[in-house]
Amino acid sequence: MQDLQSAEGMRERTDIKSMTKAELAEDFKRLGFPKYRADQVYGWLHAKGVESFDEMTNISKDMRSVLLQNYYIFNVTIEKKFVSAYDDTVKYLFKLDDGEYIESVLMHYHHGWTICISTQAGCRMGCTFCATGMGGFARNLRPSEMLSQITTAQRDNDIRISNVVLMGMGEPLDNFDNVMRFLELVSDLDGVGIGMRHISLSTCGVVDRIYELIDLKPQFTLSVSLHAPNDRLRSEMMPINKKWNVDRLLEACRKYAEATHRRISFEYSLIKDKNDTDECARELAGKLRGMLCHVNLIPVNTVKGNSYERSSPHQIQRFIRILENSGITATVRRTLGADINASCGQLRRRKKEESDGNIQQD
Ligand code: SAH
Ligand code: SF4
Repeated sequence: MQDLQSAEGMRERTDIKSMTKAELAEDFKRLGFPKYRADQVYGWLHAKGVESFDEMTNISKDMRSVLLQNYYIFNVTIEKKFVSAYDDTVKYLFKLDDGEYIESVLMHYHHGWTICISTQAGCRMGCTFCATGMGGFARNLRPSEMLSQITTAQRDNDIRISNVVLMGMGEPLDNFDNVMRFLELVSDLDGVGIGMRHISLSTCGVVDRIYELIDLKPQFTLSVSLHAPNDRLRSEMMPINKKWNVDRLLEACRKYAEATHRRISFEYSLIKDKNDTDECARELAGKLRGMLCHVNLIPVNTVKGNSYERSSPHQIQRFIRILENSGITATVRRTLGADINASCGQLRRRKKEESDGNIQQD
């Protein structure tokens, strides 16, 4: 767990939005405030999503000044925002207190608003098809920095978000403790109140953490970025496969599905002539046979820095048919925000290049 004490420039104040209700009550006791005050402040921070202590209108001025001396409320700042002309998708580039950038994507489905949030500034996993991986790793996000992506998008659009996917920048299971705390906070009914069944967490396959999750029996949906049916291909695309290969990953997934009775969603980005062949589809079907799972096919997003191309619609249909003929359900993910290039990592990378002086500002 990263230290909740503030970053540079914030004095030694505590990141209050990363604290659980119990921690807040304990801290307030130390400061001499009654317990109901902790509940009130927690409600302002999480249910109402206020951005300053001054917005807490039922808290006296004196108490607000004590709060300000001891805590700070973290908020992301909207650096850039792109709204799709095709659908209601909004892509945000958010700035953090230390000048780092992260991305989130807000999407509108028939069942409501979903936000895809980042869990790290960058990522250290280095997948060859991914813009985030190419942009390098800066640091883990704190729970407040994950929460603030949601509350800021809600405020900015005057909406309630009903679903959260941890599929933005970063590998959630590489920031395990902060992500678990974020999940506890976001799903609290006295807070943001987004139930675990409305949350998906996507991992590139950090197997030891998947086993830890099994013990926790989480109610969220686990998505596993598989992208290849064998070690030759997967190790080429995803360095983590050299640590935990396809068989070890799938063994953990099988145990997870058996223990939680929850269907795993396998993400598979289709890359032309690389992992989209009939042979790959048959191999994948063989590996997943009998598992409680679903395959989510994603036509790969082209990214500067590699030569990967999207599969043809014809080959995508063939791939699906082969999986379905083996009894494995598969769907192609709907592309939202096609005009604003909604996959994560590209805006941050561009911003970094700008500040390194490699390209001209817009
Ligand atoms: N680190 C986690 C979650 C963030 S990435 C993970 O890897 O699962 C979210 C999803 O986007 C993953 O399934 C990832 O493989 C996929 N992805 C990354 N770059 C992509 C690209 N260029 N085209 C299509 N999918 C991509
Ligand atoms: Fe990291 Fe996921 Fe991108 Fe791989 S696909 S580099 S794990 S964000």
